[in-house]
Amino acid sequence: MKKFKSVDELVNQLKPSNPVYCIRKHTLEKASKFFQKNFKGKILYAVKTNPNEFILKTLFNSGINNFDIASIKEIEIIKKIVPKATCHYMNTVKSRENISEAYFKYGIKSFSLDTKDELVKIIDATKNAKDLELFVRISISNEHAEIDLSKKFGSLPNEAVGLLRLTKQYAKKIGLSFHVGSQCMHPISYEKGIAEIGTIIKKTKISPDYINIGGGFPSIYPDLIPQSLKKYFEKIKKSLANLRLEKKPEIICEPGRALVAESGSTVVKVILRKKQKLYINDGTYGSLFDGGVPNLVYPSKIITNGRIISKKMTAYDFYGPTCDSMDYMKGPFVLPNNVKEGDYIELGQLGGYGLTFRTQFNGFYSNDIYEVEDKPIMSMYDNDISSEFLVA
Ligand SMILES: *Cc1c(COP(=O)(O)O)cnc(C)c1O
Repeated sequence: MKKFKSVDELVNQLKPSNPVYCIRKHTLEKASKFFQKNFKGKILYAVKTNPNEFILKTLFNSGINNFDIASIKEIEIIKKIVPKATCHYMNTVKSRENISEAYFKYGIKSFSLDTKDELVKIIDATKNAKDLELFVRISISNEHAEIDLSKKFGSLPNEAVGLLRLTKQYAKKIGLSFHVGSQCMHPISYEKGIAEIGTIIKKTKISPDYINIGGGFPSIYPDLIPQSLKKYFEKIKKSLANLRLEKKPEIICEPGRALVAESGSTVVKVILRKKQKLYINDGTYGSLFDGGVPNLVYPSKIITNGRIISKKMTAYDFYGPTCDSMDYMKGPFVLPNNVKEGDYIELGQLGGYGLTFRTQFNGFYSNDIYEVEDKPIMSMYDNDISSEFLVA
């Protein structure tokens, strides 16, 4: 992959007419080391966040060798790119064919589930395997998350008691898991999830081999400035200690966004300006899906290219290149008020849920990916700056 000192250098040299995707290896390594240093447990990277080969290799080489996968295709990617890594099949809804292929062809032992029907499928499709690690996922409130997963996944706590008892009979090792929702803005969600698990443990008297607290760790956006990740880890540690379990389970987390978001930027070009509306060459059918209906506001920065840029800022919304009205990103994206056609804009925090969303819709697609060495527009890992914003 071609490397540039900075996004500015890249734009000045290439003057790209298609959207360009940048990856910062040093930022990935920093996030990976931060998690490994501060989270006391096993870290599974959630592959769906960004399955790019360079990202997977960098994470693996930095010490993350467990991966949370959701499909056969994701297993195949991991087996090809980092064959020594271990995959965990943490999608609670899987076809029989996929379970069977995962177990017999790829040697996957750990699976998650949230219903009895899924448990029956796993037992059948693995032909009563005796070496399974089964995770019962419970549904917990996602009230502090930007993206709610609680309606689609998880067994309700009162059903989980029976399901855990049943699952235990078929599992070599048993785990409990939850997901607080993506971009979770308050550590209390993890406290509540862990307390919920404590209740289920008390009721069933089953001491789990694993507690999996899922993903959901936040990144930093202009309008979503979280507390320091250390506060999240402290809260998790305290909540686990409060369970006073005799046999200490192994703790697992499955970060996606927090590990990779900062490492990536999308560089777009302005095709047309209509007052405060900027028509750009990437959109919701490209890497900017989360800027659409989920309305995430990416940090934005104009690439000056030597032009005089106004100090007065204004709020824009973005329209993508396709002929579809859903290809719209409300923002607000704050940029100098003299942005014009031909300008380049860097959009940050797109190392997660960016590249992975691209489609060929309407004939717009770019696969121009480069490495850059400058700093991300915003960072949670730079001396942990986000703690400065902590609301007392
Ligand atoms: C998507 C997903 C994750 C990662 O979520 P983030 O919010 O990106 O951290 C973790 N675990 C499971 C089961 C997921 O589906």
